[in-house]
Amino acid sequence: MHFCIRDDDTSFFTSPDELERAYGDITVHGPVSLAIIPFCRAGTSRGLPKESRDRWTVHPLEDNPALVSYLRNAIAAGKYEAMLHGYYHDEPGNRREFLDGVELERKVREGKAYLENLLDTAIRVFVPPHNAIGKEGLKAITNAGLHLGGVAGMRHGWPLLSPASLAIWWRLRRRRQNGLDGLPYILNVAGHRELAGTAITPRAVLRRSLERFDEAVGLDGVFCAATHYWEFEAPTGDPEAKTVGDHLRKLVHRARVDSTVHWMSVGAVLDEGLHIP
Ligand SMILES: [Zn+2]
Repeated sequence: MHFCIRDDDTSFFTSPDELERAYGDITVHGPVSLAIIPFCRAGTSRGLPKESRDRWTVHPLEDNPALVSYLRNAIAAGKYEAMLHGYYHDEPGNRREFLDGVELERKVREGKAYLENLLDTAIRVFVPPHNAIGKEGLKAITNAGLHLGGVAGMRHGWPLLSPASLAIWWRLRRRRQNGLDGLPYILNVAGHRELAGTAITPRAVLRRSLERFDEAVGLDGVFCAATHYWEFEAPTGDPEAKTVGDHLRKLVHRARVDSTVHWMSVGAVLDEGLHIP
């Protein structure tokens, strides 16, 4: 079974200390895949510091040289993987950049090249801001040779008439009818692959995450924990994992004690393309 961790919203506004506090002790054991915003626009996202919200100014990652140097070193050491997380991330009027936005081909191409140059790495995965992507966005990432962190779905860009996407759609529907949430395998959709994440947020419950984890182990499938470093201290109301950080650390422990679990980056899991239905 494959285990990976996806963390969203690293940007100009992130400090190396914040990432180190969240992941310093985790990346000793395995990689964390960071979805990074190349040109963060300071809009309404909760990942932004409160005092910077609603300014709508644009902040290239390179304007935070301490973070760039921290990321370059940690990526070279195999602690982090860089993934592309939109272009500006925030759009005025609550529009979702890769569902309602324009010039997506250019933004994917430029954002990918920018991060690859700046961080001296190769990018294999796109994570859409707000987990929202549509037909044009999917086309743009497929043309750039990227996979999707997340699942687009039939209403959001899968080719409607393709037997492969219909088969996947049918299979997901059957899972839901059987009361199974989460998705313990990779999807192979027209020209790219998609990997669902299990959201580790304040509303998530550890017992349910562990159920999904065990299902993935049983199927020799995939479990991807999707979280935010900026929310690690947030309380959950779950006595089994009192904060988001506790929740993730307990999953990491579960992954470490099981010798059948292979902990990889999100890109490596998608590149291997195992467990395609
Ligand atoms: Zn985000």
